[in-house]
Amino acid sequence: MEDLAYKVMVGLEIHVQLCTRTKMFCGCALGFGEDANSRVCPVCLGMPGVLPVMNKEAVEYAVLAALALNCEIAEFTKWDRKSYYYPDLPKNYQISQYDLPLGANGFIEIASGSGQTKRIRITRAHLEEDAGKNLHTAGDFSQVDLNRTGTPLLEIVTEPDMSSAAEVRALAVELQRMVRYLGVSEADMQKGHMRFEPNINLVVTKDGAEYKTPIVEVKNLNSFRALERSVDFEIGRQLGEFAETGETMQMGNKSTRGWDDAKEVTVLQREKEEAHDYRYFPEPDLVPVELKGRWLKDVRAGLCELPLKKQMRFVSEYGLSEYDAGVLTAERSTAEFFDEAVKAGGDAKRVCNVLTQVGLKLANEKDCSIVELGIESEGVAQLCGMVEAGDISASASAQVFEQMAETGKKPDVLARELNLIQKSDAGELEAIVNKVLAENAQAVEDVAGGGKKSKKARGFLLGQVMQKTEGQANPKVVSEILDSKLG
Ligand code: ZN
Ligand code: MN
Repeated sequence: MEDLAYKVMVGLEIHVQLCTRTKMFCGCALGFGEDANSRVCPVCLGMPGVLPVMNKEAVEYAVLAALALNCEIAEFTKWDRKSYYYPDLPKNYQISQYDLPLGANGFIEIASGSGQTKRIRITRAHLEEDAGKNLHTAGDFSQVDLNRTGTPLLEIVTEPDMSSAAEVRALAVELQRMVRYLGVSEADMQKGHMRFEPNINLVVTKDGAEYKTPIVEVKNLNSFRALERSVDFEIGRQLGEFAETGETMQMGNKSTRGWDDAKEVTVLQREKEEAHDYRYFPEPDLVPVELKGRWLKDVRAGLCELPLKKQMRFVSEYGLSEYDAGVLTAERSTAEFFDEAVKAGGDAKRVCNVLTQVGLKLANEKDCSIVELGIESEGVAQLCGMVEAGDISASASAQVFEQMAETGKKPDVLARELNLIQKSDAGELEAIVNKVLAENAQAVEDVAGGGKKSKKARGFLLGQVMQKTEGQANPKVVSEILDSKLG
């Protein structure tokens, strides 16, 4: 195959399940893993004569997310019926938003390496209801579970601004973090809370001219891995196909493909994307929504510092590495706890070390978040201050931290109770050093002799002092005394 220069263009369609208590247009509680068809009512079953009632919380969650995505919010919006026939859609139409989405013309920033960000434009964000689920596990027939029917979904559509599989993944991960920060979705991939559909094509340069390959839409991906791999696969596949056939993008040659997770290939589903006639028309059973004034202001008040911004601030303001800042900002509560501990006087890098090395490990063991360990941010700041001052060693601080979570006591109290306070009194330590030097004349001589032997002997003498103090001497202070004595 000849070497062709090419650019990748990917746009994403994302469905995010909102974490409201009840469904979009009825009072059924949202759930996961319950018995099939146990969370249904005449409304979400699409019985004739029933009337949907809009879930106000779902609208607020969707608007909050749209605001975070820098969208223009429509002051006036309405509901539309999108008609299609499928066994998991009992009404034969989905209530969605067609020409007046609640958000449009926004953007999201994603990390693009070494502190830089890239802006991906958001075409639109609208609210709609989910369909049910067809199950094909019973044998010769299929079953339909309608528990999911009517679940509120935020559909987000981006412009084709992503130019690699890594960027597509970065956007998906950033969006997950964002909706979790906003508290509008649990964004649990295992539970299908986020589903992705990338639109992929290439701009290939051949003999000085540019050619666009036909757009492929990969349907219904529910993991970051599948999303990234399928985009990568499509890039290679489209390049090969172009080299072989020279086919370029035209009206009607867009196709849809599925992702085979086992074989890691995309599989053709529909060759020619038919001009769908969903026969959209305004939903007559629901009144339009007016998003303005006090209501919009109240929703806007729910915005917070967004995760990527927070992460970048942790790097610039506190000098953390991008990796550490990423770990700390994965969860909003952890990031805020870190911020508080630093504001309470803790050294940023030390607080970061305590939280990432001890806090997250403990939280993991207890299957909770750092804030749920029951430790106060002031306590962590105090603990860090004690290490800074040499009152306890860094390794002892881990033990104190664990006991803080266990007992709720303050770090200074615990350090004393656990006998972890280091001896830093120079006078007291000098006496011990003198004794050790007197008892180990050979080692003292070796130190004076220089070379390899000298280093070893010095380590031995330090060890002797630590042993005599039962490990409670501040090694830094002992080291200084040794230096002054041995020259
Ligand atoms: Zn229902
Ligand atoms: Mn949709």
